[in-house]
Amino acid sequence: MPQAVNKEGILIESEYDFERSVEWKNLAKAHLQTHPFCLACGCKSVSGYLSVHHKYPYQLCNAVGRADLVFDERNLITLCDGRGSEEHHLLLGHLGDWASFNPEAITDATTTFFQKKSAFIRSNELWITKSKNKPNCLEKMSEMEINALKIKLDLVYPIKSVEIKSLKAEFVMRSK
Ligand SMILES: [Zn+2]
Repeated sequence: MPQAVNKEGILIESEYDFERSVEWKNLAKAHLQTHPFCLACGCKSVSGYLSVHHKYPYQLCNAVGRADLVFDERNLITLCDGRGSEEHHLLLGHLGDWASFNPEAITDATTTFFQKKSAFIRSNELWITKSKNKPNCLEKMSEMEINALKIKLDLVYPIKSVEIKSLKAEFVMRSK
């Protein structure tokens, strides 16, 4: 399946030392097999290019100690970019700036901007406002913002861990 050729995105990734590991390539491939359409426009990999987008970027996940989310399906969606497709990855995944992200990417892609062309999105007042108020990139985030993000990620995507499961089992045993 063709992978998105997005030079800016790859540049940002290399700035943060994010390597395209074999593990990631395999996961992205599997994700595209189960989610082979852009969430916003429904375009298929055959007609354009699709990216596996991290709702919360790897550099932020790493910064708050949630590197597990880089490889967690719950943090991934398919969006299009590249030749022959719209720019839904850049516009809805990153609010027009590869260094930022859109915490409401799913809602935007499936409701407000569902099946909307890039030109429409770029000129839409709501999108322009969202883009102006987009989250800071990691370097510009305050310690308080980083802490708030960690709390949010822990709530929205609880750590899937064996320890938690065994603790729960122990609790059930004890309370019987
Ligand atoms: Zn699209």
